[in-house]
Formats: sequence, structure tokens, C-alpha cells
Amino acid sequence: MKIPDKVIETVRNAQNIVALTGAGMSVESGIAPFRGKGGLWERFDPEKYAHIDAFRKDPQKSWELFRLQIEEVTHAVPHTGYHALVTLERYGLKSVITQNVDGLHKKTGSRDVVELHGTLSKLRCDDCSSRKDTLEYMDQIYNNTVPKCPCGAYFRPDVVMFGEPLPTEAMQRALELCCESDLVLVIGTSSIVYPAASLPDIARNSGAVIVEINTSKTAITGHTAHHTIYGGAETVLTRLADELR
Ligand code: NAD
Ligand code: ZN
Repeated sequence: MKIPDKVIETVRNAQNIVALTGAGMSVESGIAPFRGKGGLWERFDPEKYAHIDAFRKDPQKSWELFRLQIEEVTHAVPHTGYHALVTLERYGLKSVITQNVDGLHKKTGSRDVVELHGTLSKLRCDDCSSRKDTLEYMDQIYNNTVPKCPCGAYFRPDVVMFGEPLPTEAMQRALELCCESDLVLVIGTSSIVYPAASLPDIARNSGAVIVEINTSKTAITGHTAHHTIYGGAETVLTRLADELR
């Protein structure tokens, strides 16, 4: 895999770069995407486990999925591609907008991370909305007990479930960042989950160059994306940072 000279030149010339990441960004850190082979949706029907109505009807059942996800991300280590995104801050990367809930960008030390779908690292009370660190409740989570807020209601991870809107403030910031940006790196996302999937188009319409990094063709390949680099996020981002140095 070679990164085209044109792409390296575009990154060098950019002043305001934004990275938009999806589940593919974390595959090489051992976290499977939801869709496709080995994905969580093969084992868990999203409507039965990850829909807000399902959680309210049977929190214990939804927590079977949440427990697995929390366990997975607690042990996950950011791969070198994550560190490459931190290096890219020296070359104009301003922010990372992520659809991921694994917290790996923050764990790596990225300067500005917008978490569009929330984070598993926090729990939120479904009634009074108070938040706690997930780590404080690990004993209960591992013991198959659904953690409860001091107010008595059940906690849920502070993530966006099916049937819920995206956090307004995060989406607003993402829109602003995409409109101000002159280069958006779209990494490891199928670009089919809306409204996040609309961001590359919005950025392009505001004048940004769109460079996609993915192992496969996606909904934006050949349309919204000016360039697509086929490869794993870890390999491609590590090489890109090396080329810039
Ligand atoms: P998706 O599952 O729809 O698509 C993943 C994309 O990553 C695909 O286009 C695939 O071709 C690509 N890909 C796979 N391996 C890759 C690699 N090594 N390098 C680069 N690309 C690779 O994911 P999505 O579009 O992000 O949206 C699904 C939703 O799932 C999101 O809302 C997200 O919140 C959630 N999700 C998050 C995590 C996580 O936090 N790590 C994991 C699974 C799902
Ligand atoms: Zn509460």
C-alpha cells in the first residue's frame, strides 16, 4: 500500500484538518464492528438489546450486551494509528469526531475529541441523568448486577441507543468543525449511519477535500470522497505520519 503523492501534498498544505472515525478505526485494537462477520449484531439483535425501548422493558437483557462491550473496551489498547493521529496535530489536525464509544482517542491523548455517539466510559441514570465513571461500577457489572443510580433508577452506558437522537451539542460542534475544515480524513466508517454519514458531504460542500481510509469501498467512495486509500487504519495512518515527518 502506497499513499499517493497527491494525498501527502494535500495533507501538507492543509491548515485545518478534521478526522472522522468509525468502528473500522478500532478493529486493529481488537474491537469488532457491529456489522459483518464477527460483528456484535451477529449475536445480538440490535432491536432486542440496544434499543432504548428494549432497555426500559428489560434492562438486565440489554446489560448482557453492554457488559461485553465494556469488558472489550476496558482491555483495548490504542494501536499506532491512534498515535499517528496525535502526531498529525503537528501538521494541522485540529479535532477528531468519532462515532465510536470505546474512548480510545481520549485514551491516546488526542487534543479535541467529539464523541457523537457518547462513551462507554460513563454511565448515565435513565431517570435523573446523573453521570458516573463506569470504572466505579465494574464489580457490579462483572457480577451480572445492573448498576443503579443513588436515586434508585437503572444506569445505562452514556451512549446513544437505537431510537434516541444524537447529543445536540456534539452534532452541532461536528457540523461547525466540518464546515471550517479544509481536509477531512474519513477513517473506518461505512458512512451509512445517519446523521454522522452526512458530515463528509457537508464538509465537501463547504470546500474541504475528503480523503477516505478504509479496507473496503463505502457509500462515499467515488462520490463524496476525492481520494480513497484502501488499507487498515493502523497501517495507513502510521505510514501517513511517517511520510509527513
Ligand atoms: P460500521 O460497522 O458500519 O463500518 C465499519 C467500517 O470500517 C466499514 O466500512 C469497514 O469496511 C471498515 N473497516 C473494517 N476494518 C477496518 C480497518 N482495519 N481499517 C479501516 N477500516 C476498516 O461502523 P460505523 O460506520 O462506524 O458505524 C456503526 C456504529 O457502530 C457507530 O455508530 C458506532 O458508534 C458503533 N460501533 C462502535 C464501536 C467502537 O466504539 N469501537 C464498535 C462497533 C460499533
Ligand atoms: Zn438517578
